[in-house]
Amino acid sequence: MNKKKDIRALSKDQLREFFISNNDKAFRGNQVYEWLWSKAAHSFDDMTNISKTTRNMLDENFVINHIEVDTMQRSNDGTVKNAIKLHDGLIVESVLIPTKTRTTACVSSQVGCSLDCKFCATARLKRMRNLNPDEIYDQVVAIDQQSRHYYNHKLSNIVFMGMGEPLMNYNNVLKAIDKITSPEGLGMAARRITVSTSGVPKMIKKMADDEVRFNLAVSLHSAIDEVRTSIMPFNTRFPLKDLRESLEYWYAKTKSSVTYEYVVWNGINDRKEDIDALVAFCKHIPCKVNLIEYNPIDDGEFQQAPERALNNYISNLEMNDIVVNVRRSRGKDIDAACGQLANKS
Ligand code: SF4
Repeated sequence: MNKKKDIRALSKDQLREFFISNNDKAFRGNQVYEWLWSKAAHSFDDMTNISKTTRNMLDENFVINHIEVDTMQRSNDGTVKNAIKLHDGLIVESVLIPTKTRTTACVSSQVGCSLDCKFCATARLKRMRNLNPDEIYDQVVAIDQQSRHYYNHKLSNIVFMGMGEPLMNYNNVLKAIDKITSPEGLGMAARRITVSTSGVPKMIKKMADDEVRFNLAVSLHSAIDEVRTSIMPFNTRFPLKDLRESLEYWYAKTKSSVTYEYVVWNGINDRKEDIDALVAFCKHIPCKVNLIEYNPIDDGEFQQAPERALNNYISNLEMNDIVVNVRRSRGKDIDAACGQLANKS
């Protein structure tokens, strides 16, 4: 194991102090910081405006722990799935999803997941560790490069919907988003970023208190406790009443609406009472609903409900003036679709 410290764990001020304590100029810290973040340098030798002696000194003290795209698969619909190798050999997955008007990166926040949603392939991996801010940032950089390479424009949106529950790795996700939105990083607008959570009430309130500027999505899937607990067992710890209260708190503080992600499964949440409960839940704060097409994972216990059930949802939501979108799945042929990320590679 390399004992040298990862240089990207240092803030800009800490880098400046490092150079001062080594009898060099503080601004050298700014130059190195720019190489590390906005230029995403993988090696000290890339830092061409830094002298060879200084580069050697950095090399003696630090490493740059970088991710590597281990394997890449392209779907028939243009979706690109990456198996990303971390510095310790663990793998996460990140996906580039193109549409006519935009490209979206779906990034991971943890290796595996500590939650246990029954319909999700990642849940079977268990949580191995949280990703560092730089490992999250690097996924976005890698996917931005793919967007430019394959689609001739920079990345337009980011969703935290890959592996892991982002609010269980909140500090690192926030630090990564700071870098992604900073002019010294990628300079992306926070409004183009969506953090999708399974619904951790305490953390939703914390985000509101922190006055974050990105969008919030909640994987709801049922507005009836009994049903939700049967598919998302942690719902016993974070019941819908607490979730609803935290979302009311979020809206009161941020004035920002919420997107509810919702899959309709055959025989699970396709009844009239399921629809009525969702409509009632949606009335608490301004929101919209994304009905997401489901991709069965291996054992086939969960099956997408037929079109008729989806149409019942759509007409009831619309009748109640709730905005609803249907999200067709992308990258199914390469297991890159929602809920399918499970390191099969
Ligand atoms: S759906 Fe999200 S929160 Fe639930 S187990 Fe999968 S990765 Fe974790």
